[in-house]
Amino acid sequence: MGVKRNLFGFDRAGLQTVMAELGEPAYRARQLYVWLYRRRVRDFAAMTDFGKALRGCLESSFEARWPVVTSRDVSRDGTIKYLFELDDDATIESVFIPEERRRTICISTQAGCPLKCAFCLTGIAGYKRNLKPWEILGQVATVMEEASGVWGAVSAPQLEERVRDSLPRERKTGKPWNVVVMGMGEPLLNYDATVHALRILMDPEGFAVAPKKLTLSTVGILPALERLMAEPVRPNLAISLHAPEPGLRRQLMPIEEKYRLEDVIAAAQRYPIPRGGRVTYEYVLLKGVNDAPDHARQLARLLRGSRAKVNLIPLNPAAEIPFEAPRPEAVDAFAGILADAHVTVSVRRPRGQDILAACGQLHLRAASV
Ligand code: SAH
Repeated sequence: MGVKRNLFGFDRAGLQTVMAELGEPAYRARQLYVWLYRRRVRDFAAMTDFGKALRGCLESSFEARWPVVTSRDVSRDGTIKYLFELDDDATIESVFIPEERRRTICISTQAGCPLKCAFCLTGIAGYKRNLKPWEILGQVATVMEEASGVWGAVSAPQLEERVRDSLPRERKTGKPWNVVVMGMGEPLLNYDATVHALRILMDPEGFAVAPKKLTLSTVGILPALERLMAEPVRPNLAISLHAPEPGLRRQLMPIEEKYRLEDVIAAAQRYPIPRGGRVTYEYVLLKGVNDAPDHARQLARLLRGSRAKVNLIPLNPAAEIPFEAPRPEAVDAFAGILADAHVTVSVRRPRGQDILAACGQLHLRAASV
């Protein structure tokens, strides 16, 4: 007997092909799709609207498998960082962020990242490969399942203790889910697998995450951004800007050589968003590098009058990152200048910093660690 094919990650068309191969009608593919993504059931035997023969047939040749969780770190603030080990020993991280009114999952699209932004630990730690759709969707499925009341199945004593002590209500609440594609990797360098996964995430018969609750963050890989704009259903867009002018951006983000700041902003401003919606521009604040009032004024000039909002991210430091976090007064002053110039601005609160789960702190590690 050969290796079983993993059906988790297949889209509607892919499942139709499988069902056709088995001599089954097309509606069976839709039923399987709902089991896999809406109900997130992996056991074919539990798919009760299939006859015994079909269930047996699926079990003998196929599987529905998510990536394996090898560890969970729980932050003081309730954030949980998941480490997944993939079939080739690549490791990826995802983050669950509980909040007052919502729950957010931050997912990875690549093992590591090839972009090498100077302030980001993911890039510093290296790049391994693109993820497959099942590896991207499996992160969401795992986090949703664990957050929705199966804590008991989790063996990590630390997790159980923290959950009992600090999150007594979390397991019962059905707060809305947000998904942010802001983990390891550059999603638009893995366009096909990422968009394949996002379609299933946003599909009402799939994970049913509303498009407005899904945000993709990118440095602005222009050809891929154009393709994303042409998608019939799209996530929100966040652009990693980090500097108000090309010279400084080039020092921080090597990708500026290829896709320039002005072109990225021009493309982002054409991104189709609902009326009143805005494109987010992320700006990581680095002490003494890009956090001066002049930078804020330049940024305001760049974005004033456009459908933009700025999300300031005070640097999450780490030993390997050669920059320091900005002073709180610098953050306030920077935000104040933008607000005075009528540019919408927010400051991102770090989550899970104590477990290296915050922005830019996810990184490849040896599988044995
Ligand atoms: N490659 C995509 C997806 C990663 S998103 C992108 O760059 O947009 C992660 C966000 O966190 C990006 O805006 C990134 O620039 C930011 N970030 C990276 N390192 C950081 C750090 N050390 N502290 C705070 N934010 C960081």
